Amino acid sequence: MKLGAMQDWPLRVTSLVDHAEQEHGAREIVSAWGDGSITRTNWRAAAAQARRMAKGLDRVATLAMNHAHHLTSWYGAIGMGGVLHTINPRLFADQLAYIANHAEDRVLFYDKAFAQLVEQLKPEWKTIEHYVCFDNGEFAEWLSAEDDDYRWVEADERDSIGLCYTSGTTGNPKGVLYEHRSTMLHALMEVTPDVFDLSARAVVLPIVPMFHANAWGVPWAAPLVGCKLVLSADYRPQQMCDLFHSEGVTHSAGVPTIWLGMIDYIEQTGIDLGSLGNVTIGGSAAPRAMIDWFRKRGVKVGHAWGMTETSPIGTCGAPPAGWDEMTDGEQLDYIARQGRVPFGMQLRIVDDEGQELPRDGMTSGRLQARGPWVVKRYFKEASEAANADNWFDTGDVAALHPDGTMQITDRAKDVIKSGGEWISSIELENCAVGVPGVAEAAAIGIAHPKWDERPLLLVVRSAGSDVSEQAIRDHLSCHIAKWWQPDAIEFVDDLPHTATGKLSKKTLREQFKDYRLPTAVDMVGRG
Ligand code: AMP
Repeated sequence: MKLGAMQDWPLRVTSLVDHAEQEHGAREIVSAWGDGSITRTNWRAAAAQARRMAKGLDRVATLAMNHAHHLTSWYGAIGMGGVLHTINPRLFADQLAYIANHAEDRVLFYDKAFAQLVEQLKPEWKTIEHYVCFDNGEFAEWLSAEDDDYRWVEADERDSIGLCYTSGTTGNPKGVLYEHRSTMLHALMEVTPDVFDLSARAVVLPIVPMFHANAWGVPWAAPLVGCKLVLSADYRPQQMCDLFHSEGVTHSAGVPTIWLGMIDYIEQTGIDLGSLGNVTIGGSAAPRAMIDWFRKRGVKVGHAWGMTETSPIGTCGAPPAGWDEMTDGEQLDYIARQGRVPFGMQLRIVDDEGQELPRDGMTSGRLQARGPWVVKRYFKEASEAANADNWFDTGDVAALHPDGTMQITDRAKDVIKSGGEWISSIELENCAVGVPGVAEAAAIGIAHPKWDERPLLLVVRSAGSDVSEQAIRDHLSCHIAKWWQPDAIEFVDDLPHTATGKLSKKTLREQFKDYRLPTAVDMVGRG
């Protein structure tokens, strides 16, 4: 006898919204719109609206910020067996043209704020037949044509549900095609205490767009526990802080740049964080100083690592056993690393030949991941993205510590190769932003006649600060090896960011391709 005798229940995400409707129907979903207005719905109404939508849909794309209409369009598109393509409006126009054609989208739901972009791209988009604006009355009209007497399509749990393109640094963006099952398992993982720690009592405000790796999976995890969901189209610190207070937000998540702005605002205004007790920081390395700032205000920080290809959560840092016996400094060091894997995820590091490297906390290697919510193959690509054993090469360089934590040391293409050794650009940057008066920093490798590459550190001062090069060097010398000291520090007004809010090292390398390090000039001078 092979099979057991339990019930068949495919892991399809529509059961998430069914559950929220049945068990947490009155729990609110709040939308803070770009024009400052606030609208309210709840899980019961959202589920009914999603069913109405499902009746009139086809292959759907969205070009929108976070709000309840966007949320119901997800469940509606997927509920009728469709694939939802969340387009990142911050991609370049030619990339936007490419991905909608590549995905063969038929209906596009978009925010009024992106109307101009839509008009510009209409001639390029070959497959889109219907355009529906979310916030000018068209969406309401679209919905009014149908009732909510609809049953979700029932089919295989491995069916595709969503398509998210990663902004590749070379070539065209690549599509990651999520499934019901992968998304459901990711949601079950995400709500657990050591990851996002969500429950029916939580009020969660994701400050990460729904088009970027599904707002880190929060719109799937929220109905699973029936928490209150607060969605905002506007990420300005004041707007966020107002929502923290008016909606009683307990949990939030965002990239370090978002929190930098927020910290600045809070420091200036003296406002408090309300009921906020849990913050997840990820997408880029969370600086130690930022983690410390939240801890001092009683907020628990989870430091997460992941990528579009991992749905996106790969690791999250939460207190381990023995936490209470750790010193303050040890606790901070622990959270400053990128956390440990939840059940379902596996990591290893390998050398350039693919040989597994020790988990000793000192050896760095190429980080590989595998698990049920890790990409196997990019959309419409013939070759596999993972090897025969399902290991997917993340393109990150990391060390694995004996305590189970993972520490990102760099992107494989961003490490600074000096005299055959690696300097971690991330560690230099993190260390530099620990200097009071430094708002943001970026380290890139500049060609050097003797060492191959040496670091150049670019620094943005905080408003009103006149922090000096010497102050930065003094701080760095306490925290990094001497040979890691940048060969030059330049102050700049701002730094370029990618479509997903990360420092754009590619743009910086381009901008500084002719830069001559003083050390290199010296050498030439000395002959
Ligand atoms: P994306 O697919 O756009 O979300 O980008 C994923 C990449 O962001 C990863 O491969 C990492 O290079 C970077 N990343 C994400 N989280 C972290 C983190 N906590 N620390 C450092 N880098 C991170």
